[in-house]
Formats: sequence, C-alpha cells, structure tokens
Amino acid sequence: MISLRLKAQVPPIAEPLILRLRETNAKDLDLDKEAVMIGEENGWRDYDYCGFSLRIEVAPTESLDGDVLLAVPGRASVHRLIRSQSRHNTLLITERCDQLCVMCSQPPKAGHADLFPQFTQAVLLAPAGATVGLSGGEPLLYKDQLFDLIETALSNRPDLRFHVLTNGQHFESGDKEWLRRVARDRVLWGIPIYAPTPEEHDAIVAKEGAFHRLMESMPVVATSGARIELRTVVTARNVQCLPSLATLITTVLPFCSSWAVMQLEPIGFGRMNWDALFHDNSVDFEPIARAMNIALARGVDVALFNFPLCTVPEAYRIYAPATISDWKQKFLEPCAGCSLRARCGGFFEWYDPNRGFAHLGLT
Ligand code: SF4
Repeated sequence: MISLRLKAQVPPIAEPLILRLRETNAKDLDLDKEAVMIGEENGWRDYDYCGFSLRIEVAPTESLDGDVLLAVPGRASVHRLIRSQSRHNTLLITERCDQLCVMCSQPPKAGHADLFPQFTQAVLLAPAGATVGLSGGEPLLYKDQLFDLIETALSNRPDLRFHVLTNGQHFESGDKEWLRRVARDRVLWGIPIYAPTPEEHDAIVAKEGAFHRLMESMPVVATSGARIELRTVVTARNVQCLPSLATLITTVLPFCSSWAVMQLEPIGFGRMNWDALFHDNSVDFEPIARAMNIALARGVDVALFNFPLCTVPEAYRIYAPATISDWKQKFLEPCAGCSLRARCGGFFEWYDPNRGFAHLGLT
C-alpha cells in the first residue's frame, strides 16, 4: 500500500500550507510554492522551502517529484494530496454527509474542516492534464465553495478536469447557468443510484425522499449539458433488482453518459456489514449480466468497477477496467503468473480472502 501520509519535520507554520516538491533544480521553479530537494540521508529527504528546512521520511526508491503536499500546523506529517505519477488523486472535500449508506466506504463525521483555499491552491499545482477527484462525505453540502474551487481551477488551468462524487441531492434549477458556463465538458459528476424503487434506494442510503430528490437533480445536470456517470454498488440487497434498474436507467435516465456497476469496498460500513452485503459474482454473475445486456443493448455505456477479472465471465471482461486506486490496490497468490494481471485491477488492500470470492484465478 502506498502511504498518502508521510512522516515529516515541517517549517513553523500558523496556517495549513500547500507546497509542491521538486527533486531537480529546474529552471521553471516557483519558489513561493515549491520546495526544492537539497539532500538525502538515512531515509530522510531534505528540502529548502523559502529558506526553511523541510524534511520528509520516504523510501529511497519513491519519487516525490511534483507531488503536492498539505502540511498542517503542529503535525509531524504531511499529506500527499496530489501524486504527480498517479492517475488516482482525490481530495476529500468534507466528511459530512446527509445520507448514511449501508456500504459507505468513508462513513460520515459531524465535523468539517474548511480547506477550500488550500485545495484550490493544490489543484492549481497539479501536473499537466490531470483529472482530480473531489469527494466526501458530500461535497455539495458546500456548493458555493465547491463551485468556486472548480471555476477558479478551470479558468486558470485549461488542461485540468474534475471527477466529482456527489449523492445528487443538492442540484437545483438555479445551478443550470453555472453548469452550462463552467462545468459542461471538463467535469464528470459521479452520482449513485442503488435501486429502481424509492423504497429500496431510500433504505440503502438511509434517507427518506432521497430517490425522488435524485430524480429531480439528474435532469438539472443533464439539461445543462454536463456529464453524469451513474454509480451502483452491487450488494446482496440490490443485486436481484439490477435488471429493473437497468430498465429504469435506459428509459428514464438515458441522458447519463455511463453506468458504473461497482463491487463492494471492504472498508468503513462496507467492512462492518460485509457478511450481509457482499455478493459473490464469481458464483453468481447472472443478474449483473442481465442488467448489463439491457443497458448495452439500449446504448448505455456500462463499466464494471473493482471486479477482479477472473471473477467475471470472459465475455464481460472487456467492460471491467482496472479501477482500484494504485495506493490501495493489491494482488494475491493466484495472481502470480496470471495472464490477465497487466489489465486487472486486483483487490482492495483491505480485502480479506477468507470472506471473499469463492473462485479466483483462471481455470
Ligand atoms: S488471478 Fe489476480 S490478476 Fe488474474 S484476473 Fe484474478 S485477480 Fe486479476
């Protein structure tokens, strides 16, 4: 597992600080925002930041060049907010949420630390062409600040894109102008829908009226020309209704760009409720296949997220890209020598083989 927090000795700061690390003395250095490496000894890298010393403990083989860090006053560590060599960079906008999904991988907390100024600086320092994820909690609980962050970044960095994960409860018709003007092409909104009926969807997200609110929100986004990626985590509770959900999506929500059908992540509530929720698709893929067939036949792009390839019937493997973020991805003993490994996403770091898929490996 790649650590997103590194032990550090940071300069004396009174406010959270964003900076970018450089390991070469390049000509294009921005010394107000960048720390330049000046040495390395005994597992510690030394940087100069505006005349102050910054020390970071890191393995000698690990490149930090171009990484964007957050340092918090009084902490002996730094957060790697954006890793320059990774495609998987997501900023946790808030831990607050107005839903309480049974499988949530990041269970909500009541408190909120406002880091919008720092996050704005961070995305402006992202590598060229980056797509930055924004998630929570529910980021649209802070809609004005979130929209400001996105607008500032997109207007200053024409190469950047965003992928925002939202529960879809907070779009209003008044947002259309902003969505049209700012976020049409360069923002993808990932919005979950878990069941085709209000009763079951609301029960899964533990919020009465959530399904109806979702159905009000989606057209606001879609009629603005913005792109929606629907997301459905497969669990034992909703797997049998996936074909009905596919019918709903293709008839009521055909304007959505894509549908991500996702395996459960065994962390947070997903881990706590694993035994009740995990659906082993290596044993029974049939309802997922039926749902995919309906969606694909009606022209909706479908992708399987977080499915080890060997748990998916061969005909459907082309729809299963490697989606598990590199920092929390692992492979198991059956993966050694597997011919699919180069294009397989493997497993979440916290996956327990004793409570997981019955059938792994190629037969
Ligand atoms: S054996 Fe491992 S690498 Fe091969 S398909 Fe299964 S999970 Fe992926």
